Amino acid sequence: MEQRTQGIGVSPGIAIATAHKFSRERYSVPKYYITDLDAETKRLDRAIEQTRDDLTTIYNQTVEGLGKAHAEIFRAHLMILDDVALRDDVSQQLKKECTNVEYILDLLAKRYVQVLDTIDDQRFRERTADLLDVVDRLQRHLLESERPSLRHLECTSVIVAKDLSPSDTATMDITKAIGLVVEAGSVTSHSAILARALEIPAVVGVPAAFDTIPSGSLVILDGQAGLVIVNPEPDTIAIYTKARENLAIQKEKLLHISESGIARTQDGIDISLCANIELPFEIEHSLRVKAQGIGLYRTEYLFINRDTLPNEEEQYDAYAHAVRALAPNPVTLRTMDIGGDKFIAHLQVLKEDNPQLGWRAVRFCLARPDIFKTQLRAMLRASIHGTLRIMFPMISGIEELRQVKQVVNEVREELDRENIEYNADVKIGSMIEVPSAVALADLIATECDFFSLGTNDLIQYLLAVDRVNEKIAHLYQPAHPAVLRMIHTAASAAQNAGIECSICGEMAGDPLYTELLLGLGITSLSMAPVAIPPIRAEIAHISLNDARKLAEEVLQMRTSSEIKELITYRHKQRVDSFEDVFSVDYNGLTGKSN
Ligand code: PEP
Ligand code: MG
Repeated sequence: MEQRTQGIGVSPGIAIATAHKFSRERYSVPKYYITDLDAETKRLDRAIEQTRDDLTTIYNQTVEGLGKAHAEIFRAHLMILDDVALRDDVSQQLKKECTNVEYILDLLAKRYVQVLDTIDDQRFRERTADLLDVVDRLQRHLLESERPSLRHLECTSVIVAKDLSPSDTATMDITKAIGLVVEAGSVTSHSAILARALEIPAVVGVPAAFDTIPSGSLVILDGQAGLVIVNPEPDTIAIYTKARENLAIQKEKLLHISESGIARTQDGIDISLCANIELPFEIEHSLRVKAQGIGLYRTEYLFINRDTLPNEEEQYDAYAHAVRALAPNPVTLRTMDIGGDKFIAHLQVLKEDNPQLGWRAVRFCLARPDIFKTQLRAMLRASIHGTLRIMFPMISGIEELRQVKQVVNEVREELDRENIEYNADVKIGSMIEVPSAVALADLIATECDFFSLGTNDLIQYLLAVDRVNEKIAHLYQPAHPAVLRMIHTAASAAQNAGIECSICGEMAGDPLYTELLLGLGITSLSMAPVAIPPIRAEIAHISLNDARKLAEEVLQMRTSSEIKELITYRHKQRVDSFEDVFSVDYNGLTGKSN
């Protein structure tokens, strides 16, 4: 019998394929008896050697990338590996049990953890995690098991996982992965953002998906409605196959709504629609949907999924390619926003208790001027190929903005000394995504050239709702009156200072909010390329004059639900008036989550 589960639709489209279950963590440890104790001891020694090589490499890379203090953890792991007591315990057990060493390691690890858990001291608990990490590495060598990835898939599949990191998603074989069903996450988690970038239908926040969807079973997922259907009946398959065809036709129609790509309101105001990109292949998507620039290039994706940092030349090539491809339209390069839910594996930044409040974005860059300056050099050099803008994430106040601008000036001076060309008029923008930056928006606006509102983070910090936690996804409310007041404050400050105020958070790509955002004073929107055609159609049915009246009314409202009701009603009315294009019911993306 078919089984239907509701989750949060985060990337539109319909996928029909068999389930491929993906888990990053687990491999099973077999138990078998052995007769040749010497051979088994040699297996253990070989695994220890291989693990020592791994840890030494990671230690050196971390010293190089982050400095000695951060590499200490791997020295501690090396010490655990070389602990004679551990080696002796394994040997003794081997003689006693005569079973394979990975099984013995498993037993010993469980025993150590039990003992360490009884000690009421944080340092011992941390040591448990270290011990398990070392045992995990040893066992993977013994089992010849690699850290799992989705790089190679055998057949067209819907991926089913408890959790997917941005790097799992970014390295996925997209010729075969045609849909994602994930237990964790929300609309603004970076895996969801990547799914939209890759144009793969995705549903997240699906309870118990991993345990209840059998591997190889047929799955239909509707990334718009957030619905997952396992073992569908033949009638259901027929309905969704037809709906998938309709969606493809609708997508094609939307592409041709405006040949020039201009989004113009009913009262003749042009709104600039730009693309958010993470990976270079999205440049082509952006051109296909006639984006009027790149409003957000998440450059940190050039740093993840690799063993070393990209050097200046490599970064320069990537940035120059984007700038040339979009010229004369602007390309807004955001300096790397590492941390939060995006990590660079080889830098091995220590796990933090509150990564979203931690060593992220410009905080990381200011602490690592070597990495930061290399990126800025590459950006400035690429500026001669078109219109390049630089934008800084997580700016929280004037001092921080001045500090990053100071680094830009130092890099300019370096380039001058070396007689290297760059555009001296490169515009510098500040992301407004930390509530303190909104409070200071009038001041920040006088010290930068443009604002881009990162509503994904602004909402999480303002409402104290972790953007990647599916359990509280219903509290993540773009229509919250406090969020709308913040947007209005920032937009007004930008307007008073005569600078542009755009939005590059996921709200910008949700047609439910378009009229309200324009009414609040937003003059440009940047979103996943796939969202641009529907937003362009929406704008063609909006009058800026009415949008301003709507914003005035909404700013007087007291609750998210009232606001949501009003904007949903207005959006539905518009959709009805251009039903020929939206023949399939089109509801807002973020509207699904709250
Ligand atoms: C945001 O916070 O809204 C944003 C655009 O940046 P990111 O999603 O990469 O944090
Ligand atoms: Mg952000």
